[in-house]
Amino acid sequence: MEKNLIELKKISKRYDLPSQGNVTVLDDINININEGEFVSILGPSGSGKSTLLRIIAGLVSPSQGSVLYNGKPIVGTNPGVGMVFQSFALFPWLTVIENVKLGLENKSLREEEKMRKALSVIDMIGLDGFEGAYPKELSGGMRQRVGIGRALVMEPDILLMDEPFSALDVLTAENLKRDLLELWTEKKIPTKSIIMVTHSIEEAVYMSDRAIVLSRDPARVISDIPITMPHWRDKQEPKFTSLVDRIYSILTKREIKTIEVEEVQKKKLEKVQEVPAGALTGFIELVDDLGKKFDLYKLADQLSLNLEDFLPIVEAAHLLQFATIHQGDIDLTEIGHQFADASVLERKILFKEQLMKYVPIMEKIVWILQSKSNNKMEREFFVEIFEKHFGAEEAEHQLDILIDWGRYAELISYDEKAEVLYLESETAAINE
Ligand code: ADP
Ligand code: MG
Repeated sequence: MEKNLIELKKISKRYDLPSQGNVTVLDDINININEGEFVSILGPSGSGKSTLLRIIAGLVSPSQGSVLYNGKPIVGTNPGVGMVFQSFALFPWLTVIENVKLGLENKSLREEEKMRKALSVIDMIGLDGFEGAYPKELSGGMRQRVGIGRALVMEPDILLMDEPFSALDVLTAENLKRDLLELWTEKKIPTKSIIMVTHSIEEAVYMSDRAIVLSRDPARVISDIPITMPHWRDKQEPKFTSLVDRIYSILTKREIKTIEVEEVQKKKLEKVQEVPAGALTGFIELVDDLGKKFDLYKLADQLSLNLEDFLPIVEAAHLLQFATIHQGDIDLTEIGHQFADASVLERKILFKEQLMKYVPIMEKIVWILQSKSNNKMEREFFVEIFEKHFGAEEAEHQLDILIDWGRYAELISYDEKAEVLYLESETAAINE
């Protein structure tokens, strides 16, 4: 029988934020990870992937539920894990070997033994000859090799990686992925299991044995997909691309569904995606140019956009009903086609209509401005309202994007110096 290495039992995590009250980030997460498995975790940005990894590492404690390692609940930090971060997290004043040796800080080993282990790991991760170099002398790819080395030197049962390749350029990332995969598949490291958070579906399907997909607000496991193709996998192969497509459609469908439910409710102020009107119009034009239906994954790939950059644009186009999404394919709506073919002025009118129809929060802003005799209101006023719904930082971002959309639609204007929103005279007149 396969041995359970990590068991997550009914894990929930809540944060108590002064502005938003209790926010549930993770809700009832149950995952078992077996010895020998390389598992990827996918999910929208801000869904709680990093929080989940930290909980497995014992760096954050869950509000409810427990983490079992080898069948026993962990107390404090998990002794079985080594962690690799997106940001490398190296100490600039320490050399490569000193940074790697940090991984052994808490082990009671003799100095020579630490040195021997560190040197052997440095050799393994391809940093031979750079033992004495400082991080600033290294390229991004080499720095991340040090980050991986520091985790591997601990000879952890479980290697946790939080978007380890996303700060690297494509070629460097590919190179590092292959090297790591070789260490793993050829059992050159004693690691029994790898858990990797990634926003790249392709990366997940290329490297791992299983992809776990999380939803957002709160994060729940919405899909757990086995990936059984043998290594090395061919990214062009139909099996590969259709699996990528399938996961893509699970992720997007979920995203879109959330919007539709929220849209119907229309009561709460809902966040909009932070996509400038310019990017959105460019995207609609492009989809129109490409012809009728288009596979979202291939489109993202063609634009060299990763999921985190791409999904918000798709979501925004859908929210405004310029596009529909069906089983991973995007298609423009009638309005979407009209918009793509329209003149600049007509576009603004269409955009304005869609905004007022489908973005209740925009409607609210306009309504407040209309209700004032001078049709003006300080930015601060809206920020304060938004803060209650979205929290302080998010409130500013949301207002910025709504101002951007409103300006493009010539619905509202904004005086940046005075930080005042006001209605375009035409919008004000409608109400008279
Ligand atoms: P992901 O890694 O999927 O992008 P995170 O796990 O970093 O997501 O964050 C999930 C959510 O939890 C976000 O909304 C974030 O703002 C919130 N969050 C994370 N850490 C904290 C914290 N220490 N206090 C309050 N909220 C937090
Ligand atoms: Mg994260």
